[in-house]
Amino acid sequence: MNEKIWLSSPHMGESEFKNVKEAFDTNWIAPLGPHVDGFERDLASYLGEGVHVAALSSGTAALHLALIILGVQAGDEVICQSMTFSASANPIAYQGATPVFVDSEEETWNMSPELLETAIQDRISKGKKPKAIIVVHLYGMPAQMNRIMAVADKYEIPVVEDAAEALGSSYKGQMLGTFGAMSILSFNGNKIITTSGGGALVSRNEEWIRKSRFLATQARDAAPHYQHSHIGYNYRMSNVCAGIGRGQMEVLPQRVEKRRSNYAFYKEAFAEIDSIKFAEEPTEGFYSNRWLSTVLVEGEMTREDIRLHLEKDNIETRPLWKPMHLQPVFADAPFYGDGTSERLFEQGLCLPSGSNLTAADLERVVSQLKQLYQEAKV
Ligand SMILES: *Cc1c(COP(=O)(O)O)cnc(C)c1O
Repeated sequence: MNEKIWLSSPHMGESEFKNVKEAFDTNWIAPLGPHVDGFERDLASYLGEGVHVAALSSGTAALHLALIILGVQAGDEVICQSMTFSASANPIAYQGATPVFVDSEEETWNMSPELLETAIQDRISKGKKPKAIIVVHLYGMPAQMNRIMAVADKYEIPVVEDAAEALGSSYKGQMLGTFGAMSILSFNGNKIITTSGGGALVSRNEEWIRKSRFLATQARDAAPHYQHSHIGYNYRMSNVCAGIGRGQMEVLPQRVEKRRSNYAFYKEAFAEIDSIKFAEEPTEGFYSNRWLSTVLVEGEMTREDIRLHLEKDNIETRPLWKPMHLQPVFADAPFYGDGTSERLFEQGLCLPSGSNLTAADLERVVSQLKQLYQEAKV
């Protein structure tokens, strides 16, 4: 059996282990500690001026706190991009609120600004103004942020950017994760950088970030004993994980470069196969970290034919995210769509995309896939 080629596996640099060792040597094995403060500073300065960051236990936890801070309560409605990972929508349910799903548009595969406005108008006409809008930058591709923000501003609804897949991506020169009222990042094992597990809440509102740190550490009031006037959570990042994160921040620009070069390699290699399509950055303002290289498979060969063929050679690929409005758990949630995300799900495939893939790995993926198309022709 050939060696396994993973979809997106962790890729450590030089400093991560040293930082973890330092945490052990100084016995900072707790949530909180100098690496947590340092990691928050590293992220804030990477994202841009005036940005504040709280390092948390996961991206999901960050999104949960964002909704709490925006005042989302039981019975409220929150608009969410349908085409995404379930973690974008689950925190809405944690709050006892209802997700209202909105379809994607063709160019970026992210939330359609038109359908967003349709959804808002319809919910308002039904007597329920949505409390927040969760927009996702799938696979690192920026959503149409100027148009999304214009709609959100028009109806005065705060935007939460789910930038879990998009650290290092930008729109018109501004880092993703800095457009919304609040944004979240993820450092799960498969993301562009990882802390083994972790996430962050990002905002220009320093008060909100302070509040998120308070809620993430069991909402302890200032007192020598344990005193609580709010329900709290255990959502803080550990100092050990943050040490890994600080090391990963040193290599983030190289990780973005490598992921983008994976994408460019596939695109050139498959240029001759007409039925394999790539999603371009729509205009120069869109800069994707190309977290995952994704393709749409048209024609007679299906994405499942390709996936199963590559699996036989121990190469991991995966269908695109299955839209939330098609998930059994969200079957009753309202949905505003035109079939775009369903088609993307039918045709879309994520190719091996790790920053640790070798030239030989990439060649193997390409030659296996080309072989499948050649055999099909005979
Ligand atoms: C990974 C991911 C999350 C959740 O992050 P965790 O750190 O795994 O909780 C949320 N949204 C999207 C789009 C993701 O890809």
